[in-house]
Amino acid sequence: MVCTSLPERATAVEKQVLTVLGATGSIGLSTLDVVARHPERYTIFALTAFRQVDKLAELCRQFLPRCAVVCGPEQAKLLAEKLSDLPRIEILHGPQALEQVAAASEVTTVMAAIVGAEGLGSSLAAARAGKRVLLANKEALVMAGEVFMSALRAAGAVLLPIDSEHNALFQSLPAGFEYGLKHCGVRKLILTASGGPFRTAPLESLAMVTPAQACAHPNWSMGRKISVDSASMMNKGLEVIEASWIFGVSAERIEVVIHPESVIHSMVQYEDGAVLAELGNPDMRTPIAHALAYPQRLESGVANLDLAAIARLSFEAPDLERFPCLQLAYEALKAGGSAPATLNAANEEAVAAFLDGRLRFDRIASIVERTLTRMPAQALQSLEDVLATDRQARALASEALILEQKAA
Ligand code: NAD
Ligand code: MG
Repeated sequence: MVCTSLPERATAVEKQVLTVLGATGSIGLSTLDVVARHPERYTIFALTAFRQVDKLAELCRQFLPRCAVVCGPEQAKLLAEKLSDLPRIEILHGPQALEQVAAASEVTTVMAAIVGAEGLGSSLAAARAGKRVLLANKEALVMAGEVFMSALRAAGAVLLPIDSEHNALFQSLPAGFEYGLKHCGVRKLILTASGGPFRTAPLESLAMVTPAQACAHPNWSMGRKISVDSASMMNKGLEVIEASWIFGVSAERIEVVIHPESVIHSMVQYEDGAVLAELGNPDMRTPIAHALAYPQRLESGVANLDLAAIARLSFEAPDLERFPCLQLAYEALKAGGSAPATLNAANEEAVAAFLDGRLRFDRIASIVERTLTRMPAQALQSLEDVLATDRQARALASEALILEQKAA
């Protein structure tokens, strides 16, 4: 059993002091939208961004955090200039500063919404410091599930899932699920997937897909990396691995079903045949508000679900020929050890290459597969092992990308 006793510990906190990691991103901005609706409940301690200095400056003016973090000294200087009339904001930069604001003693709650492996250090720092960790950065769990869950347990931290599927599962499970899903009569977890923009596109057209087409998700508005992952269904694969860590279940008990309307955000199938689900409009402010307020409820700005207008909910099994990344993620989860970290790193390299115009969309899976083949799963003992796997997988994926370009 890998899960922590999280929900029980997540009692209501009167006034929460927040660090928002990745504040300028899609999840960061949705978080701040919810926070702005409830100024009596939330204070912002720190906001972080990578290079988006203008956007961060704007957010600092609105939320007046104690600290702001950017990627390097140049950006820090620029931000300081833009905020020179607001002297109380301390401006920091670099990965260590991210960890510092995630673990600061004043902070009760950390929204971990940096994208990709770069979010691992600060997400883990929040877990180690025993914070309420609102986890959007799924890549941290995919890479370092064991290390991350152990850190949460050791520090008595609280994990509240932000990914809409995991948040829906959390809402559809009974209190006490952390003692084992079998004990709660759970047969399986059913993750829904929209199928992305290419669910019905002719298979041969996938070779010509552009980044703009891949980022145009039919239902959700998201950052570019997760949008590409949704189009390839690697996102669902990463989520299967994420679910296995959060809920302590094996791959065999996690099913994926395509549900193009994205109204049912995921489901729990019980032994007696009952299926519990969470439904809503596809708007990340719902899971964010749920996690911010848990165990209470907050107004989030999300419109009521109009079932009559939606009229029909549909489902289909995922087509693994169209979506080989999903199959690769299941295989990596079953292989265990370093395989999910390898899968994640190779995918990040392949997606970056696709977004830069260096790789065809329909070749993302081959880069990941070749990297996995060259790096058989090994046991991961520590964070250092995770980071070494990440580095090695990126180097091998880069080699595979060069071969791919030569062959093209
Ligand atoms: P995004 O690209 O919109 O935002 C990413 C944020 O991280 C930005 O603030 C950016 O400045 C910051 N960032 C990027 N690289 C960084 C680096 N190297 N160091 C420090 N900061 C860096 O991404 P997003 O869509 O908001 O997704 C964030 C995370 O949430 C991802 O892990 C994603 O899988 C997960 N998630 C997103 C959604 C969604 O609807 N957007 C849903 C579920 C889960
Ligand atoms: Mg999701």
